[in-house]
This record gives sequence, structure tokens and C-alpha cells, in this order.
Amino acid sequence: MKKINLLLLLFPSMILANIPIKNTAIPGGIAVIDFETKYTNPKAFYRTVPLYVQHIKNNHWQALLGIPLMEKLGKKSITVKDFSSRIFEIEVKKYAYKEQYITLKDKNKKYINPINIHMKRIKNERPVLSKPRMTFSAQRLSNGMFTRPIDGITTGMFGVKRFYNGAARRPHTGLDYAGSIGTAVKAPANGKVLLTGNYFFNGNTIFLDHGQGLISVYIHLNKNLVKQGQLVKQGEIIGTVGKSGRATGPHLHWGIFLNGAAVNPTLLLQ
Ligand SMILES: [Zn+2]
Repeated sequence: MKKINLLLLLFPSMILANIPIKNTAIPGGIAVIDFETKYTNPKAFYRTVPLYVQHIKNNHWQALLGIPLMEKLGKKSITVKDFSSRIFEIEVKKYAYKEQYITLKDKNKKYINPINIHMKRIKNERPVLSKPRMTFSAQRLSNGMFTRPIDGITTGMFGVKRFYNGAARRPHTGLDYAGSIGTAVKAPANGKVLLTGNYFFNGNTIFLDHGQGLISVYIHLNKNLVKQGQLVKQGEIIGTVGKSGRATGPHLHWGIFLNGAAVNPTLLLQ
């Protein structure tokens, strides 16, 4: 008994439940790599990128790989490092996401074909926005079981191939929820505020770090009510719904990143 308590004290993350995730080895999905080890702190990598690792029970562990929407199909190698180094293979299978055609009005033209002055801003913001996405903090901050950030209906599904005024754009990397301006946005899981700011496409934005490369993002906000470095609890209000940035109307765009890859948030919803 004493031994267990000591372990919990040393590794508080051990008291957290695991993500009860199904293996969805498709672009935008999460591949589950089961492995056994007696090692107490195994690590897993895709190329050199560290992966989310969770202890199931006894010698059973899992590594979770977030698969980017634009990832090539086929076999991928995951390296598990414990006493030695082992390779596990997974296969990314095809999934046909739907297509969506969006008409942006004249006043939104600057977002369709941004002119030079905007291009400079967009270019400058790119590395600022990709950095939080790739963050890996060793400490797990949540149990990975998310609740919805707002109650609105889903107006934009994950992975949908989008066309703005007929021109193909990147697939939709999050979920859109309808909501009137000022609707409270709640943290769907415990985390730490990684970055807040106002950006050209995203408008007012908040990134939360949930640990082990699991990151969430909230965009087009009206108000941001948290500060960088602040710890937030599941259910805590972090901001309000708005239509800042490239938004056709007030809504919340919610995104989840795992090892830098945008994955379907519904995979983590209970
Ligand atoms: Zn969206």
C-alpha cells in the first residue's frame, strides 16, 4: 500500500485515467500502438517526433499517433524506446471526407486572395502559430477525456474538403460550433494556456497544452479571458464566441493537435 502511495506522489499523472481511444489509423485519426514493457518510463517516436504514451495496466502500454489530414497512406514506423529500441508498423488507410462549398461575400474578399500587405502578416504569423502546435510537455495535464467547449450545434465537420468561391482550400482541421457572440467557451479538459493573440485568419485565438503533445485551439473568439502560462480546469470559461478573423459568422472553431497533427476532436469527446 505504502509503495503505491509513494508512486502516486512521485508521478501524479499516474492517477489520471487514460484516453479510451479506438484505433483510427486514417488521415485525421489516431493510431493506437499497443506494446508491452517492464520499463517504467517508455517513450515512443514517429521519425523524431515524440508521441503520447499511456500506461494501461501491468506491462501493457499504448503510444498514440496523431495522423495529419494530408499524410500519405500506407505503412508508417513507430519507434518504442525502453531498455532497447523496437519498431512497430501501422498502416494508414483511406477515408473519404465530405466536400463543402463556401461563398464568401465581397467584404470578406481580403481573406480569399489576400493582398501583399496581408501576405506579410500571414507569413509572419505562420511560425508563431505552428510553434504551439508542436509543443511537447512531458507532464500530462489532463486525462485526455474532453467535454464540449460550447453547447451549440456542429456546423462544420472535421476533415471536410473546402472550396471558397470555387477555389480549393486546405481541409477543415477542426470542428465548428454555432454560437451567438458572447457565448462562454469552456476548457474541455485541464490544461495550461500556451499562447493567446490575434491573427489574420484565426482572429482571437487561444492554445491550451494538455501535456504529452496534446494541444487544443479555439479561434474566431470575441474575447479571450485567460493569460499565457495560466492553468485552467475542465469547464472553466476561457473566452467567448466571436467572428474575428476569417469567419462567415459567429462560431467557435475548435481544433485538437496530437504530436503536431490536427486530429478529429470527436475522437476525444466522451
Ligand atoms: Zn472551422
